[in-house]
Amino acid sequence: MWKWAKRFASFVNKDVADPNESKKNAVMTRWICVVMLAYATGQLIFMLAEGYYLYAVFPAGMICAYAAALYLTYSSHTIIAYYMVILLILGWCFLSTDLYGWNVGAQYAYCTILVYIFNGTHMTVRRKLLDAGILLAVGFLTFIVAMTQKPVYLMSRSQTVIQEFMNMVSTLTSLALITVTFSKDTLDTERKLMDYNREMAHQAETDALTGLMNRRAGERYFQEMKDRSYREGFFINVVMGDIDFFKKVNDTYGHDAGDEVLEVLSGIFRETVDGKGAAVRWGGEEFLFLLTGMNGDEAFMMIEKLRRRIEGTVIPTGEEELHVTMTFGLEEVGRDQTMEDVLEAADRKLYMGKARGRNQVVM
Ligand code: GH3
Ligand code: MG
Ligand code: MG
Repeated sequence: MWKWAKRFASFVNKDVADPNESKKNAVMTRWICVVMLAYATGQLIFMLAEGYYLYAVFPAGMICAYAAALYLTYSSHTIIAYYMVILLILGWCFLSTDLYGWNVGAQYAYCTILVYIFNGTHMTVRRKLLDAGILLAVGFLTFIVAMTQKPVYLMSRSQTVIQEFMNMVSTLTSLALITVTFSKDTLDTERKLMDYNREMAHQAETDALTGLMNRRAGERYFQEMKDRSYREGFFINVVMGDIDFFKKVNDTYGHDAGDEVLEVLSGIFRETVDGKGAAVRWGGEEFLFLLTGMNGDEAFMMIEKLRRRIEGTVIPTGEEELHVTMTFGLEEVGRDQTMEDVLEAADRKLYMGKARGRNQVVM
């Protein structure tokens, strides 16, 4: 039973085929059609049971019309269905008041239409206000007719109760379903927007090839760490690393192989700094390591271990296997040093290492 209800709900909540149509409009319209189909069936049974055979043609017509409107929401004609539903409800309110009088409460459905109009997504607010005004005028007209004319059928107390019950239940159910559709849609949209923002923020700070922090994120991270290190009193070490003879890798094995090297090394960097700081893709084949919570000697040992790991790593590229090495310059961050000072010092040490024969860590 529950399974069938879920299946039915997902059929009604199904997305629209045409991407230019509003899903919310379609879903709202479908739920109202479903409620009104049940309502019209109730009316048909009521009329047949009470012997109002001639007027049974109205609920029978309503069933056909709501079924048609329902169909239209699945075939990219939601707007037509939308106005059909409004006219059908208005028409029935008028007719029902004529037949049974004001007391049975068919006019409750005006609330449904009002909420339906204001939750529609295809109209401007001005247009909605205009439609609401027309609705009020029709409602007033219906009221005048009801007050000045006798109903066609003078119903017994129990018949009136049945009609009141049907009108109230259908109105409340429609309102509840519109509200659920509306709030679910708002939550979905909000969630999508938040996911999108998060994704954008992530992309803006991530290097596309390696998935490491990009330079911008690295600079921000450095400032954050520096501020925290003042307060909490821990050390920061900055290491600039550069791949040795990387141009030759590209020239010999191709640019794609070069990219592969960058990706493999980045994976190793990530493992190395995990929980101890960050690895940043600073430039093409230059990487910056921001290490926290260790002194200069410990940072040196960590990077030296990384250097040896890189040296021993075999990087498969197509048919060939290749090795690369890296040179590093390490600078312990002093209290009064700016980021530029630190980078300059680390860079100087890096190039010292290059001049001394590469594949080393200079402190
Ligand atoms: P050194 O040991 O002195 O650092 O020599 P090198 O050849 O590594 O130095 P250089 O700075 O002259 O060369 C860097 C090369 O890195 C040049 C450039 O083509 C390459 N490169 C930069 N970014 C990328 C990238 O994203 N992918 C690939 N495949 N190559 C890159
Ligand atoms: Mg370089
Ligand atoms: Mg290089």
